[in-house]
Amino acid sequence: MTMIDEKLEPIYDEVLKRNPGEVEFHQAVREVLDSLGPVIAKHPEFAERKIIQRICEPERQIIFRVPWTDDAGQVHINRGMRVEFNSALGPYKGGLRFHPSVNLGIVKFLGFEQIFKNALTSLPIGGGKGGSDFDPKGRSDAEIMHFCQSFMTELYRHIGEYTDVPAGDIGVSTREIGYLFGQYKRITNRYESGVLTGKGTQWGGALVRTEATGYGLVYFLECMLASRGLETEGRSAVVSGSGNVAIYAISKLQDMGVKVIACSDSNGYVHDADGIDLDLLKQVKEVERARLTRYAEKRPGARHSDRGTIWQIPCDIALPCATQNELSGKDAATLLENGCIAVAEGANMPASPEAVRAFTEAGILFGPGKAANAGGVATSALEMQQNASRDSWTADFTEKRLADIMRSIHRLCFETADEFGAEGDLVKGANIAGFQRVAGGMVALGL
Ligand code: GLU
Repeated sequence: MTMIDEKLEPIYDEVLKRNPGEVEFHQAVREVLDSLGPVIAKHPEFAERKIIQRICEPERQIIFRVPWTDDAGQVHINRGMRVEFNSALGPYKGGLRFHPSVNLGIVKFLGFEQIFKNALTSLPIGGGKGGSDFDPKGRSDAEIMHFCQSFMTELYRHIGEYTDVPAGDIGVSTREIGYLFGQYKRITNRYESGVLTGKGTQWGGALVRTEATGYGLVYFLECMLASRGLETEGRSAVVSGSGNVAIYAISKLQDMGVKVIACSDSNGYVHDADGIDLDLLKQVKEVERARLTRYAEKRPGARHSDRGTIWQIPCDIALPCATQNELSGKDAATLLENGCIAVAEGANMPASPEAVRAFTEAGILFGPGKAANAGGVATSALEMQQNASRDSWTADFTEKRLADIMRSIHRLCFETADEFGAEGDLVKGANIAGFQRVAGGMVALGL
């Protein structure tokens, strides 16, 4: 562990005491507090008004029962939750995650990250996150629909386009957002499109939203490389995951002339030295909803493995796009030994603290998730704009806005790091810049 500024140590201790066992939340708080020493020194008013203590305590946490029946008529009970973390800059905004690992600590870590990420976009959105320990794997379409309807039967009373605007995350994509929105509309009798983002493009969704996190990640990576005068074209990349973040990161990397040689899912990874066949990957993952073993069966020369990790494959660029803490200190050492020059986080907190430290100490480029993967939520905010004005933008216009937003986020993080004496450290730049925006809003709005 690195040292937190001594003024911040008691705040971190209090977070540990008040939130026992929530290890991912502790990790996310610790990483932000590690960066804030110089900000507190410069702005004593933030300490006087206990801004950090306030930011670490969610404004509201909702936990509810989600009962549903499966296709065989059997009753299941899951737990649903929504953490409305901070609304200083706008309505709570952030995704819903449906995965068996979901618990309050995970949702709080994600909600906490979301506050700063959303602030970095410069768009008027606060931070929140939600989800359920429901496991969608192997469930039929009807079961997914019943679960989503039951989930929304409680959630609807807590959300609204000026209150809290959920979207997707792991296990929640356009299909689930459709079932959730259908139930919201049924209960409220309001076609309030702006209450959820990530909707289908036929019924209020923004073009490019599905692609936005992956595309945005690659625009951010391009800025990182350019800051050292390096080209993106002609490099090799390994991308973990095979959900929509990974798929559209791979797509944009390929457009930019990068050879992507591996991707993964929860059962293992495929190494495809000729370069991932994106059409086949989409067919397997988006249409057939199958495992990556199917990709390897259909693609001559591709090798599937469930041993070791994807990070053993030598590459110039590594984009972890699967889930939290998927890249350990040991993986980081392997990547560095093999000559990796840039890592950017497509998932939320995929690199462990040891890995982040290894990358930073080695002086390679590292883009933290709260900056690098902000393209998804930024495009959600663009979807809210379109819904509010009952408009619909072209794909080109939306993608241009996304690219501009990613470049501004990079500039903001880079310049903030410089200003606070941490040249080139985008972790510090992102934490300080995001924090200053939220803290400024909180001070202005009073207690
Ligand atoms: N789940 C995404 C994230 O982690 C997107 C959230 C949103 O669009 O509201 O940022």
